[in-house]
Amino acid sequence: MEGKARYDNYRLIRVALKTDEHVKLFQELEAESDSYTFYGHARCVGQNLTIMVAAHKLYELDDLIERYKIECTVLETNIQRLIDEEEATIKPKDTPASEFDWDHYFHLETIFAWLDKQIAENDFVETLHLGLTYEGLPIRGLKISKQKGNTGIFIDACIHAREWIAPAVATYLIDQLIHSKDLAVVDLATNFDWYFVPVLNADGYKYTFEKDRLWRKNTKPYGRSRGCDLNRNFDVDFGGIGASMDKASYDFCGSHAFSEPEAAAIKKFFDDNAVKCNIKTYYTLHSFSQLYMSPFGWTKEPVKNYDDLKKIGEKAIEAIKNTHGKIYKTGSAIETIYPSSGSSRDYVYTNYDVPIVFTIELRGPPDTPALFVLPAAEIKPTCEEILNSFIAALNEARNLGYYKRE
Ligand SMILES: [Zn+2]
Repeated sequence: MEGKARYDNYRLIRVALKTDEHVKLFQELEAESDSYTFYGHARCVGQNLTIMVAAHKLYELDDLIERYKIECTVLETNIQRLIDEEEATIKPKDTPASEFDWDHYFHLETIFAWLDKQIAENDFVETLHLGLTYEGLPIRGLKISKQKGNTGIFIDACIHAREWIAPAVATYLIDQLIHSKDLAVVDLATNFDWYFVPVLNADGYKYTFEKDRLWRKNTKPYGRSRGCDLNRNFDVDFGGIGASMDKASYDFCGSHAFSEPEAAAIKKFFDDNAVKCNIKTYYTLHSFSQLYMSPFGWTKEPVKNYDDLKKIGEKAIEAIKNTHGKIYKTGSAIETIYPSSGSSRDYVYTNYDVPIVFTIELRGPPDTPALFVLPAAEIKPTCEEILNSFIAALNEARNLGYYKRE
């Protein structure tokens, strides 16, 4: 088969669920038809929901909106237009590492070549190998360590394939920690050990370039469907709220906890290294919605250092606002986005002595018409605001006493 998935005249809408009838309608619509792609599930009155509607269902949807008196905003009338526009900002697959930048999107091959270049050129940077993906690609990373006795920070990105801004931000952070002369960045580079996995879901990332730009999961076959949502595959309330047992669903949690090699690789890394490398901080980079989220996603029960994480998150979003004026929100995941079980964030927080844990949902805002297709012109400003958020957040955590050496 030739060609890629196309979304010509697919429409992006945002609906306001104002009655129980609305909630039920959209729950049933999601269950019945794969012509409506939901970003989040219909749960409660007062919720706003973004849905992508297949072109051949536009009339049906208009009819439903009229009959049920639903408040609906059209965010985009042709999703394919976004994807086509983005195409010009993707560098070819054989682009060498020397041409890597934060004005374009890059294939996996170039990102890996760029990681190799950093490892080869800097004696305080070493390679990390966490295992293999389902398709046998390496789960790669690198470690930056300038002195002994540091506490460690682990950062992964692209657990969800289509969230291209996440590996871009991860590589920017690596680049800055290695090369920046800014004293605040040098301080972080010197006084922490950094562990990065910029493309955790390498199979899925490749799939978004070659097959379907809007793919989220990995690519492991499950019957007639493919893919598990790796961020539902961790062993914390596995298969619970905000995860699906339906193999075809975008948030299918897998056959059992850690059924997927990519999630299992993260678990193994923490099992082997959380104590040994004194890892006290974990960040996982996603898009979109502009959120700085602490645990938990599966319960409203606050974590024991909830107040500290709130303070740290507030410093972070203030730094973001002061960079390019973007507004992010902070709070626990269940408060800020939607309920979710089986996430890497909640698993790491619960199972290791890692008290500083955040998921960042990068640009754009919750009602962005661009979904995961963030214009390449926004890569650099996003990277800059997130670097500043790290400086603010880690300094606040340090002030709160989290990184004291024994
Ligand atoms: Zn995500």
